[in-house]
Amino acid sequence: SSGSDENDVVVVGGGPGGYVAAIKAAQLGLKTTCIEKRGALGGTCLNVGCIPSKALLHSSHMYHEAKHSFASHGVKLSSVEVNLPAMMAQKDKAVGNLTKGIEGLFKKNKVTYVKGYGKFLSPSEVSVDTLEGGNTVVKGKNIIIATGSDVKGLPGIIIDEKRIVSSTGALSLSEVPKKLVVIGAGYIGLEMGSVWGRLGSEVTVVEFAADIVPTMDGEVRKQFQRSLEKQKMKFMLNTKVVSVDTAGNGVKLTLEPAAGGDQTTLEADVVLVSAGRVPFTAGLGLDKIGVETDKAGRILVNHRFGTNVPGVYAIGDVIPGPMLAHKAEEDGVACVEYIAGKEGHVDYDMVPGVVYTHPEVASVGKTEEQVKALGVDYRVGKFPFLANSRAKAIDDAEGVVKILAEKETDKILGVHIMSPNAGELIHEAVLALHYGASSEDIARTCHAHPTMSEALKEAAMATYDKPIHI
Ligand code: FAD
Repeated sequence: SSGSDENDVVVVGGGPGGYVAAIKAAQLGLKTTCIEKRGALGGTCLNVGCIPSKALLHSSHMYHEAKHSFASHGVKLSSVEVNLPAMMAQKDKAVGNLTKGIEGLFKKNKVTYVKGYGKFLSPSEVSVDTLEGGNTVVKGKNIIIATGSDVKGLPGIIIDEKRIVSSTGALSLSEVPKKLVVIGAGYIGLEMGSVWGRLGSEVTVVEFAADIVPTMDGEVRKQFQRSLEKQKMKFMLNTKVVSVDTAGNGVKLTLEPAAGGDQTTLEADVVLVSAGRVPFTAGLGLDKIGVETDKAGRILVNHRFGTNVPGVYAIGDVIPGPMLAHKAEEDGVACVEYIAGKEGHVDYDMVPGVVYTHPEVASVGKTEEQVKALGVDYRVGKFPFLANSRAKAIDDAEGVVKILAEKETDKILGVHIMSPNAGELIHEAVLALHYGASSEDIARTCHAHPTMSEALKEAAMATYDKPIHI
């Protein structure tokens, strides 16, 4: 096979980390092969993560708007119904088109694509059990591990992807559950809880910790939780799931306060386990070549993404750092740039994080809690979307922009946005952070009117001076 000629770069895993690394390597003139076991490119993100979840979030939002908001905008409908198979088909079509798109990009850039399960024979050889059956050995001067992550299970809870589902099952339920219990209040649980809540499920989120999305700025988190509660999402925080019983028709959960105490029970039709993700390296043969991992099973790398084994690199969800698709992509590009003898760089303090609920919550840089912990003197500037003309014009004005800047220099330290489309708005702040901008830099930048982005400008004004519209 073509894979048996020596490559400059072999990438194991075709997710956002791996496929981007492969394309970039080929663009830099390196002979490149990418190995993927799934039968489709795009990894977790495209097949069972970012993309299908955003498709369902959009479709369910449209339904919810049609049912609850169209009338107040003067759009009268006689009836609104969910056609779940059609909604799922639209999601599947989006995923299918995008995976084929990456295959096209591989062809265009002359990346060799080997479909099968890769395992190390040596630091420069990967044996692949191909999906067609049979085996091929792919050789490379440099091998990049981009095998990603998998759902983290909970002890004693067996995921059958029907009544007890992971995010994967929650993306393709065949009917809307009457009662959905979500275990884990991270962004994936809240996004999937939103989808099914909008489609009619009663959603209860059970979380062991005291707060939802622990990485979020505390003040924004409070507003966010209130917003979700207004959408009828119920929260049981500081609560531990002791056991899950599937003996009867539905599912019976036994709960207990995190600190210990009396047990209670909760009924559900479907339980979503979304308690996090773990690095995936099963069957890869890391021990055979002696690649070091930490206690959590993440592959340890230096700033050039090199493992302790020369010529073997790792990127994305399988190494420490935020488990996000865009972070995996940045890793992939930088890693390949180093391999090609150039410089690469990823600044993990400037990776934006977005929760794609409605409103969305997006942030970059430090939270107020982190700034306090650093002992930096800081200023806070806030602006509510209730005072933003565009948000009022479209009657979708729930949310706030919050900026944290160093008191002495006005340098921006962190930006947190809760609003419709916050995931798009945040990039102005990401760029500002990259350029070491001050809040005054944003405030003196002309922003088009009427746009949601003006709220960022006003929050910047509020940071070092006064806003106009409040
Ligand atoms: P992965 O995407 O996991 O890809 C690894 C690939 O390697 C897989 O396709 C796997 O089949 C393959 N593989 C593994 N082992 C082998 C082997 N031995 N041989 C061959 N192939 C192998 N992130 C965001 O940034 N934004 C979002 O909105 C978002 N939403 C998400 C929603 C859900 C429901 C989930 C589950 C995740 C979401 N994520 C999101 C996280 C995102 O999916 C991951 O951070 C991202 O996919 C990591 O990319 P990766 O390339 O490191 O790994």
